[in-house]
Amino acid sequence: MSNLSYASSISRALEEALGKGYQIDPDALKLLRGLGEKRKSRKPVQGEPSFETIMREVMETKARSKSPSKAIDRSDLVNTFPELFDPVTVTTRATVVMRDSQSATGPSPESPVEADVEVVKDPSSSIHPTGIEGFPQLFKSRYEKMSRILAERPEGRQVTKISKVNRDKGASKIAGLVFSRKPTKNGIEFTIDDDTGSASIIALSPEARKLAAEIALDQCIIAEVEASQGRLMLKNVIQPDIPIKTASTSKKTIYAVFLSDLHIGSNKFLEGAFNRFLEWISGRGAISEEDEEIVRRLKYVIIGGDVVDGVGVFPNQEYELAERDIYKQYGMVAEKLKLVPQHLQMFMIPGNHDATRQALPQPMIPKKYAAALHELKNITMLGDPTLFKLNGVSILAYHGRSLDDVLATTPGLSYERPHEAMKVLLRARHVAPIFGLRTPIAPEVEDHLVIEEVPDIFHAGHVHTVGVDKYKSTLIINSGTWQAQTGYQANLGISPRPGLVPIVNLATLDVMLREFLVSS
Ligand code: FE
Ligand code: ZN
Repeated sequence: MSNLSYASSISRALEEALGKGYQIDPDALKLLRGLGEKRKSRKPVQGEPSFETIMREVMETKARSKSPSKAIDRSDLVNTFPELFDPVTVTTRATVVMRDSQSATGPSPESPVEADVEVVKDPSSSIHPTGIEGFPQLFKSRYEKMSRILAERPEGRQVTKISKVNRDKGASKIAGLVFSRKPTKNGIEFTIDDDTGSASIIALSPEARKLAAEIALDQCIIAEVEASQGRLMLKNVIQPDIPIKTASTSKKTIYAVFLSDLHIGSNKFLEGAFNRFLEWISGRGAISEEDEEIVRRLKYVIIGGDVVDGVGVFPNQEYELAERDIYKQYGMVAEKLKLVPQHLQMFMIPGNHDATRQALPQPMIPKKYAAALHELKNITMLGDPTLFKLNGVSILAYHGRSLDDVLATTPGLSYERPHEAMKVLLRARHVAPIFGLRTPIAPEVEDHLVIEEVPDIFHAGHVHTVGVDKYKSTLIINSGTWQAQTGYQANLGISPRPGLVPIVNLATLDVMLREFLVSS
């Protein structure tokens, strides 16, 4: 096909979609044009889908999904045709190329890049629980931090304080925390508080009711309202969101691997797969030339919690445990992580299966339970969530407990696409915006869960599926698991994705995935 015919194939596809009432996001259009460019520069491949076919499949997928939206964005394209539209140059392939066994053994050479680590914010050292009476203090801190975030947005600067809002006529924007919400005879009424007062807002139209239903309690929003006969009617809801910025990258090529949810101690822990991974990062065993270069430039291993399966985490867990002693479980973790070469630096945060406070923010796993881990020279134990910088790249590591709540309450999301749920957190600028469901939150003097600084990489685990995406300039990674499907997950219909490891080049923020579940 010539350049022109690619262009007309794209426009025919777009016309068809528009004719069916779909809208196409400019970013999605860019992706399509990019693919056209790519195809025009090489010979046509037998059986590759035409642009018309691509659009039809995307529309069918959307029609089948629970979300009724008729807007097609880049994630729709990427999710329907991941092999055509890699959002962040994801390459998946097993480590298959054999080297001759002579050079394949022996320790990996010293890494050619210098490590540069800065822990920006770890809640472990600054946790001051206040007791149940401390919640007003927590929400005051949340409001203040959110106000600073909103002040940086154009809409934030047009906000009117609640005490100054004209309730008789005109439109205004008010910002604050959603305090309560209740259905009324013909709509939804909710209240929003700022530091000058409280306003009751009514959502009547179907669109406004949908917006009001999606707001989480205690979340910070900007509400666009219209005054009418002494009442404030909801017109629109604006999330705090993250701005578009340029991500920071390292000067030299340097790699970081992201793990989570090892669940050591569970009888479903996939030890063989994890051993293959340990061999790989040590530069031993079967390794391709490309991977040899990655391993040589590998410097960091980030572990996003649930390193053990724990004890008594859910009813009847003992029947799924290979080791029922929590101390021994951490001993087993240390035995494995001892095999990580000394020149690699590890960072570990806890998850809900770990032996530390359950309420967020979680302090690091204490020495009391994990003495052998604390003794490893190349590991840094951190709280959940923690913000740290590796060679200038900021990483927000968060276990992901609240993703359950986001998945349960946001229409159109699923466990297969954990990165979409992580975007909800970035838009809310809070790692646990939904209060009162399954995520316990501690009453703290300071709200450590506000995403104050926009991270270059947002890492989570917990849901046991792998997801990689980019939202604005932030790379989103959910790093899967090393545990096979549990009875609990089978009941919920959740299929985990164990043994698939995201590896990030910190100089470009490109992601590669490596497979360790099956031996090559
Ligand atoms: Fe887990
Ligand atoms: Zn978890």
